[in-house]
Formats: sequence, structure tokens, C-alpha cells
Amino acid sequence: MRAGVLALQGDVREHAAALEACGAEVVRVRRRSELDAVDALVLPGGESSTIDKLLRAFDLREPLIARIEAGLPVLGSCAGMILLARDLGDGIDGQQTLGAIPMTVRRNAFGRQVDSAEVSLTWTPDGSPMHATFIRAPWVESWDDGVQVLASVEGHPVAVRHGARIATAFHPEISGDLRVHQLLLDLAS
Ligand code: GLN
Repeated sequence: MRAGVLALQGDVREHAAALEACGAEVVRVRRRSELDAVDALVLPGGESSTIDKLLRAFDLREPLIARIEAGLPVLGSCAGMILLARDLGDGIDGQQTLGAIPMTVRRNAFGRQVDSAEVSLTWTPDGSPMHATFIRAPWVESWDDGVQVLASVEGHPVAVRHGARIATAFHPEISGDLRVHQLLLDLAS
């Protein structure tokens, strides 16, 4: 199993470590040939508007959209969730998304006072608690039928799945809890 981490900006190393801990071989993806070589891909947290610009500068945007459309399992965390959304609230001027999950995501949705927080939420795939770290996180504002909510905070979805596409508003790569990465790898095998 070769799992990629989009390595243009953001917390690449932590995702690579989590995927390795799940037994995957990790490829840092910065070019088309690396994208073509992976069986699953993580879009890490960072700054979504910067990653959006870099995707275009590195000529990766269109190939990435094509591979996701062809069924590549993907996990987007935080900025990665924003990138996967079809529609975006509070984006910067000209900010684009990949349109991979039919949902509207609001950037920096939790507001200033609680812009970073540790929350214990219920991971609905197994019904047990998950410790989640939020850093200037988005939330899902609306979503189409077929988008499955995997976890919520105060009524707002913060983890969703649409087919082989997973998005979390929190950072599963820094909690030591491997369930989210394992789900991605399960979808790829
Ligand atoms: N607020 C950031 C953005 O808009 C996301 C923060 C994160 O990825 N930790 O992209």
C-alpha cells in the first residue's frame, strides 16, 4: 500500500508518520509522477488558500481532480477538508476548491475565541470517543444526500465521508489515534 501526502505546505510529516504507523509506504507528493504512484492520498492541514495556489503553480490541480474522480481514496484534514468541498464560505478572493465532496464548508468557522481547542467527540463509525484537536478549523455548513456525517461538534459536522472521500475539520495526525488514517487505507485496499 502506497499512501501519498500532498507535500506543498502544511503538516506533512505528522500525516506521514501516522500512515507509516498504519503500515503504509509513504510518498510525499509534489509532482504528477508521484501523484500517479499512490493508492490513497492525504491533503494535510495548513492554509487552504496557499495550498490552492500551489496546486495550480505545480500543475497538480487538474491531475488531482481527475484522480479523485477516478476513485482515488482521499483524506482531507482541516485545510484539506476545505480543499475537498464543492462550495466554500469565507474563502479569500479567487480561492478555489477541488469540488470532490458535495458540501459547503465554512473556513475558520469556530471563530476567534475557540479557534483552537481539544474536544472529545463521538466517532460514529464505531460509536466510541475520539480526542480531536481543532486549529482555526472549518465546519460543514450544508451537505447533500450521500454525504455521511462521521462526527459533529455542537450540531456541526466536523468529519464526513462521501464514498472513498473523507474530510475532518480536526487534525487526526497529531492525536496518536490512527482510526481516521486506517479508514483511508481500508478504503484503498
Ligand atoms: N484556517 C485554515 C485555512 O483556512 C485551516 C487551518 C488548518 O488547516 N489548521 O486553510
